[in-house]
Amino acid sequence: MAIEFTYSEEQLMIRDMVRDFVTNEVKPRAEEIERTDAIPKELLGKAAELGLFGLAFPEEYGGAGAGKVGYCLMLEELARGSGAVATTIGAHQSIGAQSIFLDGTEDQKKRYLPALCRGEQLAAYCLTEPASGSDAAGLQTTADPDGDSYVLNGEKIWVTNGGIAEVYIVFALTDKALRAHGGVTAFIVEGSFPGLKRGKPERKMGLHGSSTTAVSLENVRVPKSNVLGEIGKGFITAMRALDVGRLSLGAGCCGAAKEMIDVSIKYAQERRAFGGPIAEKEAIQFMLAEMAADIYVMESIVYRTAWAYDAGQKISREAAIVKFVCSEAGERVVDKALQIHGGMGYSAELPVERYYRDARVNRIFEGTNEIQRLIVATDLLKKGRY
Ligand SMILES: Cc1cc2nc3c(=O)[nH]c(=O)nc-3n(C[C@H](O)[C@H](O)[C@H](O)COP(=O)(O)OP(=O)(O)OC[C@H]3O[C@@H](n4cnc5c(N)ncnc54)[C@H](O)[C@@H]3O)c2cc1C
Repeated sequence: MAIEFTYSEEQLMIRDMVRDFVTNEVKPRAEEIERTDAIPKELLGKAAELGLFGLAFPEEYGGAGAGKVGYCLMLEELARGSGAVATTIGAHQSIGAQSIFLDGTEDQKKRYLPALCRGEQLAAYCLTEPASGSDAAGLQTTADPDGDSYVLNGEKIWVTNGGIAEVYIVFALTDKALRAHGGVTAFIVEGSFPGLKRGKPERKMGLHGSSTTAVSLENVRVPKSNVLGEIGKGFITAMRALDVGRLSLGAGCCGAAKEMIDVSIKYAQERRAFGGPIAEKEAIQFMLAEMAADIYVMESIVYRTAWAYDAGQKISREAAIVKFVCSEAGERVVDKALQIHGGMGYSAELPVERYYRDARVNRIFEGTNEIQRLIVATDLLKKGRY
């Protein structure tokens, strides 16, 4: 048994509950999710019954009040079973609903969060555009005031939950000259608002089952009561939500890596070569040891950062570190898992190759790892010290 942080009884109950759900409900459906490129509605319904869609948020908005430590424990367990399920619930909660929780008015929180927390509605976060990914401040979607509404026009791409969400957090220019420095505003856009169109599912290398589409906005009339946060402060909302997204991405990497080391230990003890189990070979042992070391680092920084967030500390720099360290460590772990499995690791008969493909996107979304390094370096240079 590896050493553990001291979690509260409630946090351990959450972990065990999600672990059971993943063992009994998610893992048996993971191959079906991969093959059909969709998560069965009924499986998401069961996750909703367990309260997984709003776990991190306070009870007054329909959540479970588990904070980010509890939330990371949940995402870790989900990612042990399915990257698609973890990403669907993760994007919904860590960046979609999170944006409303962070900067919504009391009225907006009461109007939207309960249904989002109950999983009756799914949220999506729409920042990326065809001409602005890393350079998110270069977005071109516009929002023009007209009476008691804003009229939105533009194209968002790579939207997780894009094809299945009911609530879209859309970042748009309300002042073209100011851009990210006071010109971007966030909006809560309902999927039923006329003019919002969901694109076709992207054909991706991995994360099959996680809906990723473009979302186009053609003269979408959004009531002023759905402006999220202050006019011109939308870029700040976007970045604050991404702090949580990056942290929880680290938790997901950690969960997938734990699954990979467990299946690798088992395989190494069963698979025989040259007269004995391959686990007896030092080369295999070294790989297992390095996997454990990577996991220990991931777990340590994820929960330390989640704890700091729950304690009210600002985590932007640390969340960026969690994001790039965990996505790279997670990739190393799954690569070694595949190597330990030899030819079978490359076969679609075993889940290892799926985890390998799923892991790759973690270095890209929620801001590429190059951008995370820039965030950390910029902060260091601004402060002039660690
Ligand atoms: C499966 C998936 C789901 C996604 N979900 C969402 C979502 O829900 N919502 C959303 O808004 N977006 C989402 N994204 C978009 C994602 O955040 C972007 O793809 C990512 O930020 C990179 O943007 P880009 O693809 O435009 O790459 P680019 O910005 O074109 O970058 C290309 C390359 O150039 C590098 N680069 C760019 N600028 C610099 C620089 N200044 N210094 C060094 N290197 C640089 C990048 O690191 C990268 O290697 C998703 C993407 C994927 C693949």
